[in-house]
Amino acid sequence: MPEISRRAANLGTENAFVVLAEVNALARAGADIVSFCIGQPDFPAPENVQEAAIRAVRGGKHGYTPSAGIDELREAAAKYMSRVRGGLPIRAEDVVVGAGAKPFIAYAILSTTDHGAGDEVIYPNPGFPIYESQIAAHGAVPVPIHLREARGFAFDPADLEGLITPRTKLLILNTPQNPTGGTLDRKTLEAIAAILKPHPRIWVYADEIYSRLAYEGEFFSIAQAPGMVERTIISDGASKTWAMTGWRIGFAANPALAPVFTRWITNTDSCASQISQWAALEAVTGPQDAAERMRRSFLERRDLIVRLLNEVPGVKCLVPGGAFYAWPNVTEACRLIGAADSEEFRKRLLNEAGVAVLADIHFGSRVPGEGQHVRFSYAASKEAIEKGVARMAEFIRRNTKKAA
Ligand code: PMP
Repeated sequence: MPEISRRAANLGTENAFVVLAEVNALARAGADIVSFCIGQPDFPAPENVQEAAIRAVRGGKHGYTPSAGIDELREAAAKYMSRVRGGLPIRAEDVVVGAGAKPFIAYAILSTTDHGAGDEVIYPNPGFPIYESQIAAHGAVPVPIHLREARGFAFDPADLEGLITPRTKLLILNTPQNPTGGTLDRKTLEAIAAILKPHPRIWVYADEIYSRLAYEGEFFSIAQAPGMVERTIISDGASKTWAMTGWRIGFAANPALAPVFTRWITNTDSCASQISQWAALEAVTGPQDAAERMRRSFLERRDLIVRLLNEVPGVKCLVPGGAFYAWPNVTEACRLIGAADSEEFRKRLLNEAGVAVLADIHFGSRVPGEGQHVRFSYAASKEAIEKGVARMAEFIRRNTKKAA
């Protein structure tokens, strides 16, 4: 057999997909599982968006588009991204449309670092696992920056100062955040911008895919801080805001890198699906009631799950400021039931109580001193939330008695 490359052999993944396979196998075997694993809205895409896609199909929009996307969508996405970010100047030619926001993580790393040159990329930990796997796969050096529960899962800007070296090329920021639901507030982002000021060679990748699911106050992007717009790659898209994960449409904006990203797309996907692009144009420019309804529903479910989790023995859950994730601290719950760590807790919760969550180790190595956490995606029905958390409480009570 020919061998696969070390790069491919060592390629990381999203363990959510691995756990999902475990859950599906149990469900197929007849187990009754309440799942909080999957990070996507539990709504269909809005009707007007579906209609726009059908019109595109019927209207013969079947061919390739320019690699950067159709002009209409670049124009609309530029206006939209600007509107969500306090009127920040974003031109249509600064925006590139991709097959989801995810590919821009790779394009940003590929466009700002060289393979094997010792170029460093700072990224949040815990964080979206694709950051670390893509940094490593492209031959750059992953430098995690730790998120702190005591700061509502922001990092300490002083930690950033300590991690910057002459080799730092890129800083990845994510707000609202996967997996903690935490946000970086304006003050923190301005402090980060001040730290970056004497380091003009460092690019910033602002992963703002959850920008419309920020619940406290107005969304603020680091690109809005003085001097940041030129060096910030803003990433947003249709997946979360309009429940279009499978349609694969994302947007990235940066004046200098837009032509570079366009060339990457010519080398990879050629372009995003034309049908999805016309649908996304309707999502961005059409009525926003469905998006607003979904947002309100996530907010209600956030309040429900946080209240219920905080009633569970041994569990403490901060109120997440955005996205649809809760990141309860289960350190004490692990102790109560005699689980060595969050991963053992997760496995037992799945197998003994039929509740599927992800563990902190699926989002990077555990941060020293921060204890044990699991991730609930609360893009689930109220009934599922009530049933799942009740099962978890009962599971901990039952095993605490046994352990005592
Ligand atoms: N960034 C973060 C933080 C995410 O959670 C996700 C989706 N899980 C993405 C990017 C990718 O989104 P898309 O569907 O647009 O590729």
